[in-house]
Amino acid sequence: MKSRHSAYPFLDLRETTARQLDEIRRAVVRVVESGWYLNGPETKAFEAELAASCGAKGAVAVANGLDALRLTLRAWLERGMIHEGDEVAVAANTYIASILPITELKLTPLLIEPDPATMNIDWKELSRRATSRTKAVMAVHLYGNPAWDEEAQNLIADRGLLLIEDNAQAIGAIAPCPGLNGSDRTGNLGHAAAFSFYPTKNVGALGDAGAVVSNDEETLSVVRAIANYGSDRRYHNIFRGWNSRMDEIQAAVLRVKLRALEEDASRRGSVAHTYLDCIDNALVTLPAETPGSRHVWHQFVVRVDDRDRFRRYLADNGVGTDVHYAVPPHLQPCYACTLGSHGITEHLADTVVSLPIANIAREDALKISDIINAFK
Ligand SMILES: *Cc1c(COP(=O)(O)O)cnc(C)c1O
Repeated sequence: MKSRHSAYPFLDLRETTARQLDEIRRAVVRVVESGWYLNGPETKAFEAELAASCGAKGAVAVANGLDALRLTLRAWLERGMIHEGDEVAVAANTYIASILPITELKLTPLLIEPDPATMNIDWKELSRRATSRTKAVMAVHLYGNPAWDEEAQNLIADRGLLLIEDNAQAIGAIAPCPGLNGSDRTGNLGHAAAFSFYPTKNVGALGDAGAVVSNDEETLSVVRAIANYGSDRRYHNIFRGWNSRMDEIQAAVLRVKLRALEEDASRRGSVAHTYLDCIDNALVTLPAETPGSRHVWHQFVVRVDDRDRFRRYLADNGVGTDVHYAVPPHLQPCYACTLGSHGITEHLADTVVSLPIANIAREDALKISDIINAFK
């Protein structure tokens, strides 16, 4: 199902980069000529601009999104806010990168089935399954859809849970009601948030990059220390740290990309609404958008029982597709039989299909909708 020669490829990152090519070139050259490649002025400026974009106090730029999650959880362990063995609740249908840091740090993942309508964590199910060992929730805003509502707000407040957001797919999204900080921006709903700037994400670097965003200065400074060998000042190591830094070239490129965030969100929104308005086929279930929220459509995910035939039909008609994700974390060989079975998640994994969205024009979305409507 390669879409290299498709009329509507699933995603071609050259097109994404081309929209800002001159600015990106200038940013890269500026860093190359500056002689300053790590922990410099671009990273510092990007951290401030990223935090401002969701109204949070601060950010720490790190090497990738997975590290942003594991640095945050490690910082909370170091500070005694959570302890080995504590449960961290997370949606079972997330990407495996949400779960790897939980198990690596000897925390216990409490996998919660998603609500099939939102494809995000089912907060009612979480309130039934949470125990006294459940200390934190990782809210994954899957596909760009905010995993947040009043139920979530109440549950977290009532139980005094820590909230880490996995905002890898939802930069720029707005929740239907405020989070714990009074802000309704994803990335600023809880105690800390992880961002990914993997090239295919809505704000993508030219390589790996990530960030931790928080209003808690202490979390940020512990994350910053752990990401720099555990040192709080030169040659003084207070933690057995890691090396997880964003380089200056990526920070300079991301400053350019961040300026296009609103434009990108509205282009994706217009394509998504075209699909939602125009796709009308009983075999194809459309994704839901929560009233009062802004979904940023990292992926436009439909569900089709006969997925393979649907994908072949679209490929034959020049439409590239992808699947996010065909095998859920609990069925991966590395977790063989240790994370239970989750029927809703497994059914979603068998039926989800992602349509092209990143570089699609509204007219293309109309043609793709016509092609889908003719699928029998
Ligand atoms: C991409 C992604 C990550 C990991 O980010 P990387 O930068 O690739 O390490 C984590 N969680 C989710 C939901 C993601 O989509």
